[in-house]
Amino acid sequence: MSHEPIKTGPAEEMSKVQAAELRRLPAEATDPKSVKVQKTTGQGVDIAWKDGHVSHYSFAWLRDACPCATCNEEREASGRRLGEATKPKPGALPMYKDPARPAEIVPVGRYAINFHWNDGHSSGIYSWEFLRRECPCESCRLSRAAQG
Ligand SMILES: [Zn+2]
Ligand SMILES: [Zn+2]
Repeated sequence: MSHEPIKTGPAEEMSKVQAAELRRLPAEATDPKSVKVQKTTGQGVDIAWKDGHVSHYSFAWLRDACPCATCNEEREASGRRLGEATKPKPGALPMYKDPARPAEIVPVGRYAINFHWNDGHSSGIYSWEFLRRECPCESCRLSRAAQG
């Protein structure tokens, strides 16, 4: 996996500050102010957090980031990163997969949501903290890269 070179200068300082802040994850950072699931358009999930940050998650990303034990093990075994699409096995024909979409979205208490995916998988419990920690936006990605 090649990493984007990290830019030097103020942006780097910024992301260091953000990284330090992210490590702590204050309550308002993991508490959604609003959650929009764009199921009909297939756009994914938008979360506005109480600390002002806004996150967008595509359904494909969410499916490939499934935090259940089975998917964690599969990612570890194949070296796939969270939210990264599965690669076809070397030599195997690429298989057409329907784009990931939730058939059902179930709130889990006040701390998480659970997706019933169109491929039948439904064991992932996506906590707000997990979603915020793994926010795929560019500034969060840079912060995580800065953390190593
Ligand atoms: Zn899973
Ligand atoms: Zn973010």
